[in-house]
Amino acid sequence: MHEKRLGDVIDDFCVKCRRVTNHSIVSIVDQEAAKVRCRTCYHDHDYRHEQAPPSKKELKKAEAEAQAARDAENDGSNANGAQSAGAEIDLETK
Ligand SMILES: [Zn+2]
Repeated sequence: MHEKRLGDVIDDFCVKCRRVTNHSIVSIVDQEAAKVRCRTCYHDHDYRHEQAPPSKKELKKAEAEAQAARDAENDGSNANGAQSAGAEIDLETK
């Protein structure tokens, strides 16, 4: 098995370049690249396994959609929940 070594060049996503670029390994933990340096802009960052982090725009959109889904769920279940809870209490107290 080929072990990674400091200075090896690997592909990774650079947030500054906003694309996958060549990176040099600058830190290794457990035989895996831990930190890398972009060979294009020399930005150091944790090795991301070539995964682009979600952009702030995407995070906001996902958050808004999740919130809308929760609101829709709550509107429905609150009305039903209040009714059935009231009915249950009536039955129990009689
Ligand atoms: Zn870069």
